[in-house]
Formats: sequence, structure tokens, C-alpha cells
Amino acid sequence: MQTRFSAAQLADPDIAAAEPILRKCVHCGFCTATCPTYVLLGDELDSPRGRIYLIKDMLEQGRPATERVVRHIDRCLSCLACMTTCPSGVHYQHLIDHARAHVERTYRRPWPDRLLRSVLSYVLPYPGRFRWALRLASLTRPFASVLPAQLRAMLALAPRRLPKAALQSRPSPSPSNRRRVALLAGCVQTVVGPEINAATERLLQRLGIDVVTFPGCCGSIVHHLGRDEHAKALAAPLIEKLYAEHTSRAFDAIVVNASGCGTHLKDYDYIFRHDSTLAAKAATVSALTRDVAEFLADCDLPKPVIAPGLTVAYHSACSMQHGQKIDAAPRDLLARAGFAVKEIAEGHLCCGSAGTYNMLQPEIASRLRERKLENIARTDAQVVATGNIGCIAQLAPACPAPVMHTVELLDWATGGPEPVAQRRARSHGE
Ligand code: SF4
Ligand code: SF4
Repeated sequence: MQTRFSAAQLADPDIAAAEPILRKCVHCGFCTATCPTYVLLGDELDSPRGRIYLIKDMLEQGRPATERVVRHIDRCLSCLACMTTCPSGVHYQHLIDHARAHVERTYRRPWPDRLLRSVLSYVLPYPGRFRWALRLASLTRPFASVLPAQLRAMLALAPRRLPKAALQSRPSPSPSNRRRVALLAGCVQTVVGPEINAATERLLQRLGIDVVTFPGCCGSIVHHLGRDEHAKALAAPLIEKLYAEHTSRAFDAIVVNASGCGTHLKDYDYIFRHDSTLAAKAATVSALTRDVAEFLADCDLPKPVIAPGLTVAYHSACSMQHGQKIDAAPRDLLARAGFAVKEIAEGHLCCGSAGTYNMLQPEIASRLRERKLENIARTDAQVVATGNIGCIAQLAPACPAPVMHTVELLDWATGGPEPVAQRRARSHGE
């Protein structure tokens, strides 16, 4: 694709980064076949190719985003299926991130949208605030039918029972030759799924690995809202803390068990590339980051102590399969632990979670969820496993089979407790 940026425009490092991405696109349209919004809506402007044209035009003109451009950019899930499909290596992720930041800087949204986005940015990255918001949500549940659609969608995703906060582990002093990893506790997950971090810690410790847990948001949620400065402000202290601890005693890896967060940490080297203070530290953090399944794939898992014999439909989160290109590891680990793994048809299509997408675009998100649940039902699996809290929150409320994190199943099979969702489903069935 030809571009027409002026020399003055190319002096902006973000435009300079966008230009070669745009030039790589040869308009072939292969990406449209795997784009969930194009598959559902059939509109070229809701396909990767159409959005690339809109973004190119917006950036070349150097003008504020228009309502039409914002509509089609907002409908993009950032699922990155297009990057997996594209034969030309177009780095759509960096392009759409840049476009979202441009929209945020130049477009004034209608006030209800501004308010909703501000509330999400103010609440979700902060576990204390999020916990309070969920308590408040439980009070408004009886009036849900009179709330606007987006607030109803938020409410439907809020868990009815809030799990107790998990204790975070600090390893006791141990021989310096033991393997050692950092574990990112995250933000939303510590509130709605603390059992996932607990299972991850138990599993790693069972392998003789010391785990140092780091609280804090990685910035991914607000990054996807186009709020770059806020996202960087959340990521910077995390990078400093991880780097300082790694310098005092090296980590084998920074383990992340929410694939959306893992994709973001792996991109810190790009995001902070022009930051004279943080560029090198961010690059170190990115290089050390491993999804928990990716890390465990290189470990000798303990022998299973139970024979669960369950069939597991494995749902590969977009951030896992498209963002991090991790495919075989979680399936192999589940099979090694004694589960029969079932493939879900149309596995490349997003479940509609996509960060805050299910709250901002509830109609498209619920259509994608329905489609995913139908495909899951066809597997006849007894449980659903996935590697991202967002997908669990999206699928679990409407899925007849219990939905849980892959590490909860691995932990259970190798000596840990039965996963919470599985226990609940079993006790309902008894
Ligand atoms: S990121 Fe996903 S929704 Fe967005 S254009 Fe690519 S395939 Fe379509
Ligand atoms: S597949 Fe790649 S090169 Fe082809 S239209 Fe899509 S983004 Fe452009």
C-alpha cells in the first residue's frame, strides 16, 4: 500500500512506526475470512483491510478522528486473528493501538460513552476499587431491567459471589540454586479469580520453583481503551519493581497466567522504546515474560495423582493463540495430566471478551459468545479450560459446563484441590 506522509509527519516516531506497517499491506483480503467482526457484520469497514484504509486515511490527513472512523475502530476486538492470517506480516496490533490513542486524543465521544470509559479506567485496574464496585453492582442487580444496555452487560459479567482475597506468597529463604520466577498477580483476576493465582503458585512450588508474586495492573485494560499515558503510568512501577528484583537475584521467567496481560508485557519493549529511563528495563521484562503454559511446557510436570478422566474443551484465548502464538503447550499439558482434550470448532474466533469489549460493544460480544457456546456444546466436553480470566468471565455465566483456568486443572491433577467451578458443578449435579 502506498502512503503519502510528509517529512514533518514522519518526524513523529509513532507515524514513523505506522508507515512501514501500512506499506506492508497488499490489500489481498485474506485477513477478512478470519476477522470476527467481518464474519458477523459483513461490512468491509469492519474488516482488518477496511480498518487499515480508514487508519491510513486518518493519519495521512493528520485530522481528528471522525464518528465513522471511531465506530469501525471501536468495533475491532483487537483479537489479532488478522495477524495470524496475514501472509505479508502486517503488524496490525501496533497500528490499531496507535489508532485508538489517536482517537482518544482527537475525538470527543458522547458523554455516556465518556463516562463509561472513565469508570472502567478508574475502577478495573485497581483491585480495591473494583471490589467496592462489585459490591455496589450486587445492590443494583434487582433494578437491572431498567438500566442501559451497557450497564446491564457490565452487571451480567459481575460475579454473584465475590471470592475471598488470596494471600500472596513470598518465598522463605531458599538455596540460591533453586529456580525462581516472578508471578504477575494482576488486577481483575485477584478479585474475581484469586484461585487461579493460588493454583499457579502451588503448581510451581510443587515443581521446586520459588515464586515471588507481584501485585499490580500491567496497564493492558486502559491501553486497549486508547489511554496510553494512563497505561504507561500503571506499567512503569511494575517494570521498575520486576527489574529491581531481577537484578538482585535473577528470575528464570516472569510468569503470567492471564494471556491478555502476557501479550501486553511482551510488548513493553515496543511501548517503552523511546523512554530513556525505562526502555532497557522494559525490554528485559518483555524478554523474560512467559505465559504459564509456555513456561510449564519446558518443565517435568509431576505425575498425576488422580485419574480425572474428564473431557476438556480447550478454548484458546485470542491473546494466547494470536497475541502470543501459543497453541500446542496448553493442550499437551492437559493431555499429560490425564485429561481428554477436545477441539472447539472455529477456534480462531474470539468469544467476545476482548478486555472491556463485552461492556462497550455488548451486542457483538454476546453474538460471539453465543457462537462460541454453540461450538463448545458440540464437543460434549465436561469442562472448559482456557488461559485468560477475561474469557472465563465472558463464557462462565452462560456456559452449561464449568469454565476454569488450565492451571487449575493441572494443579488438581497433580495434588491440588478440585477447581472451584468444577466442585460447584459437581455439587449441583449430585
Ligand atoms: S483484531 Fe480481530 S476484530 Fe480487529 S480487525 Fe483484526 S481480526 Fe478483525
Ligand atoms: S491479509 Fe495482510 S496484506 Fe492482506 S489485506 Fe489483510 S492485512 Fe493487508
